[in-house]
Amino acid sequence: MKILVLAPHTDDGEYGCGGSLYRHIRNEDEVHYVAFSKCEESVLEGLPKDILVSEMYEATGRLGIRRENVRVLGYPVRRFDEHRQDILEELVMLRREISPRIVYTPSLHDTHQDHKLIAEEARRAFKNVTIYGYEMPWNNFTFNNQYFNVLDEECIEAKLQAVLSYKSQRQRLYADREFIYGQAKYHGVQTGRKYAEVFEVVRQVSDEFSE
Ligand SMILES: [Zn+2]
Repeated sequence: MKILVLAPHTDDGEYGCGGSLYRHIRNEDEVHYVAFSKCEESVLEGLPKDILVSEMYEATGRLGIRRENVRVLGYPVRRFDEHRQDILEELVMLRREISPRIVYTPSLHDTHQDHKLIAEEARRAFKNVTIYGYEMPWNNFTFNNQYFNVLDEECIEAKLQAVLSYKSQRQRLYADREFIYGQAKYHGVQTGRKYAEVFEVVRQVSDEFSE
């Protein structure tokens, strides 16, 4: 099964659905990861401008995503809206090239302008496949817990290691073992299990006859 992860910025995919991506890899699904920005604007002074890109390759590698299935585009942070049509066309090309069965995007309720734009354009571009909106609590004032993906400790640990690969982002409150495990445990408890990641269901398509 082919999976496509849309990360507006490097690291969004790992935070939003890292545990689920690891589980896909373990199930031998083919995971493709696309970041829309190199985020050079977000790099702290004194660090190499491309540090987030190298950290992204390390992080996605820790989840088991093949390097040739990871790509990064060059849209400027917080200015995706100036490139809305280009981004839509990019998504349509990805749909044709990869033909994913499941697409992971930010939530349509995400307050970050770039995240919201990717979520909206993905809904437009991928009309015929399942789309799950991932949770980023620091950007989601509203979030509908609709799909719980129950995960085991190995998945959460892989997510944590992926997140911690972004050494240049360690100052963030959520780049933290306690937070990653706490969030997974909280959603696990909501569904009577140990750990889970939670998603909004943008669209659910069951395609049982195509296999
Ligand atoms: Zn982001």
